Amino acid sequence: AAEEGFDIEDVEGAIEEAGHGPLPVLAVVGRPNVGKSTLVNRIIGRREAVVEDRPGVTRDRVTYEAEWAGRRFKVVDTGGWEQDVLGIDASVAAQAEYAIEAADACLFVVDATVGATDTDEAVVKLLRRAGKPVVLAANKVDGPSGEADAATLWSLGLGEPFPVSSLHGRGTGDLLDEVLKALPDAPEQRFGNAVGGPRRIALIGRPNVGKSSLLNKVAGEERVVVNELAGTTRDPVDELIELGGKTWKFVDTAGIRKKVHLQEGADYYASLRTAAAVEKAEVAVILIDTTDHISVQDQRIITMAVESGRAIVIAYNKWDELDEERRYYLEREIETEMQQVSWAPRVNVSAKTGRHMEKLVPAIETALAGWETRVPTGRLNAFLGELVAAHPHPIRGGKQPRILFGTQAGTKPPRFVLFASGFLEAGYRRFVERRLREEFGFEGTPIHISVRVRE
Ligand code: GDP
Ligand code: GDP
Repeated sequence: AAEEGFDIEDVEGAIEEAGHGPLPVLAVVGRPNVGKSTLVNRIIGRREAVVEDRPGVTRDRVTYEAEWAGRRFKVVDTGGWEQDVLGIDASVAAQAEYAIEAADACLFVVDATVGATDTDEAVVKLLRRAGKPVVLAANKVDGPSGEADAATLWSLGLGEPFPVSSLHGRGTGDLLDEVLKALPDAPEQRFGNAVGGPRRIALIGRPNVGKSSLLNKVAGEERVVVNELAGTTRDPVDELIELGGKTWKFVDTAGIRKKVHLQEGADYYASLRTAAAVEKAEVAVILIDTTDHISVQDQRIITMAVESGRAIVIAYNKWDELDEERRYYLEREIETEMQQVSWAPRVNVSAKTGRHMEKLVPAIETALAGWETRVPTGRLNAFLGELVAAHPHPIRGGKQPRILFGTQAGTKPPRFVLFASGFLEAGYRRFVERRLREEFGFEGTPIHISVRVRE
């Protein structure tokens, strides 16, 4: 490395950074108007992200990346949701529940100027049951006179309340220090794949694509519900299902079956639920309803799964309904609309008739294999050397940036770091990704490529 102009420490640092795997997840929960959105904006350091939200508007995103003191993590934001037909307690409980499920730690926001309400107490119960680390933010403490209000929140029994003003930034540094302490270094703990344990599958897709039908079809009679907690009907539930001679864990299946929140806020809950399921899963099976057009909502769900770095299988459902003509147009649509996952294994199924159900498991296994692929450094560099010789980067400003060497820094999904003598254009990076896929497979997995340029 040194003779190529890179400092060995730079190289090691770059590899470590690129190889970090999934980031730990922080869920921000609390009643409406306590200041969750304002606090999330502080944490992610971006104003525009949440502020423009209006009630009832579909939100593209519920997770954001944040960094504090050099550590990166994800924030699941539950601000910007609306009370639905079930009333405030049920709405708060539902959003908190999904967010907590997806998280490694929770940031519980209470309005210190109001004090603890019954709804806050209800959230405390959920937090206790989930058993995940909790940091308590006593918000709207804009000045020293509010500190006493914050102290009354000891009564919630969640430990020390951290007085903050999300609006002005007061105390948020201390709060984030505490958050970092609560977050695990390696979210693999939640990922917790005890060796030989069941692989985790999320069945996702917009409403009515056939998720519950598919689950019922694959499960038949023998399904074992795990993590079912007494006392509520709305807990996300994981089910163990035997398929193709193996046991698989289908995560958050209660969320699939649940049709409670179908009125206001349904889209929002749907995306929160999807985010939670995807966070818990290793592989996402994304269902597409072939009797309908591929929509923006489908795209959003796909983007969420890709950005989360999960293995992906696309199941084109309701195949029994297709006639020749619709099939023709469907294939055209797939070509244009599904490009971002052109590498994902595809199955054409019918949850109704059971068509091609036997192809689901092989597709899932293919995707997981791609997700876990590790290319030895020697092989990678032999490949890169040939690629650069045969297809050099275009000359720019009299210079020709060159990939000098590369390494795979991590798996699940595969992450590469390339070291280059100059800036690599986006088009060339895409070309490199395409060639990597041609050479090494990576079927069913997103791949990350970061490029370090020699100073
Ligand atoms: P959410 O519904 O929990 O996401 O709450 P928002 O972030 O939308 O905030 C609700 C209201 O409280 C807004 O008017 C905010 O400006 C206000 N607010 C949020 N944080 C603070 C704070 O630290 N101090 C004060 N005084 N107001 C705040
Ligand atoms: P979910 O909202 O994604 O869980 O979708 P459901 O499983 O509730 O299915 C929505 C509707 O589509 C129901 O009326 C199902 O009977 C129907 N459906 C699901 N899968 C198929 C399929 O493969 N073929 C046909 N013709 N209908 C299906």
